[in-house]
Amino acid sequence: MTEEKKPLVGYVNKLETFGLVDGPGVRFIVFLQGCHMRCKYCHNPETWTKSGEVIQQFTPQQMIQRALRYKPYWRDNGGITVSGGEPLLQIDWLIAFFKEAKKRHVHTTLDTSGNPFTREEPFFGKFNELMKYTDLVMLDLKQMDPAQHRALTGQDNANILDMARYLSDTGKELWIRRVLVPGITDDEEELKGLKTFIDSLSTVSKVEILPYHTFGVAKWENLHLDYPLEGVPTPTRAQVERAEDILGIPHDTSKSDTTEDPEFEAKLQRILNANYDE
Ligand code: SF4
Repeated sequence: MTEEKKPLVGYVNKLETFGLVDGPGVRFIVFLQGCHMRCKYCHNPETWTKSGEVIQQFTPQQMIQRALRYKPYWRDNGGITVSGGEPLLQIDWLIAFFKEAKKRHVHTTLDTSGNPFTREEPFFGKFNELMKYTDLVMLDLKQMDPAQHRALTGQDNANILDMARYLSDTGKELWIRRVLVPGITDDEEELKGLKTFIDSLSTVSKVEILPYHTFGVAKWENLHLDYPLEGVPTPTRAQVERAEDILGIPHDTSKSDTTEDPEFEAKLQRILNANYDE
């Protein structure tokens, strides 16, 4: 009797069909389940376990069929983004899904914290395979200082910085993101260090500040977890613009403050709806 081969399924936390901030143009976004980081500001702690109370399972073929329903929105520059949680934890599924997308000439974006990256096998070979079908990598650099990175996320960052260098060396387009938490990730020296690192890369086409917000706090409470950043305020527009200045990001000078600016608030909300990862 032959053993039946199990289908490759992805553990999916949620789908977003009209994402506007996680990659170029309009995106179909797949948020995969599972993450080894424990960022103190995590907006989606319910994604941490791989299966948990799952939720939804899709084969790569099922997911591409679902995504293609929204193709008319994508026009010339939209496409598919896979985020999380941490999508690289389901790299086999991701390879198969992006392969299906590229067969159909769909733009693919990987939104990652970089935490699983290693040059050791079998991960490295799979990662190189994945990059054949990945057009853009959006990478969160949460802290440059290793000790502070560990304090914020519970994990080291040497492999994450190595991933950024590797992608730059191999010519992969990168967007770099930083969640700006007042008093934690906005120190001047830290931001200057981030700027120096970004300048050392040759394929970064965009750098973004994601203002910290507290919309995910209720999820921590639902999971009976203490929220570690209790009392930490969201950054003001002036704080965001100061960070943008240090990082050399142009900003809109017509706006005054986050709390008085509905457009800015709407942008914040969209960013948060789309998750910090990623
Ligand atoms: S913010 Fe992203 S990388 Fe950090 S714990 Fe949450 S899902 Fe993981």
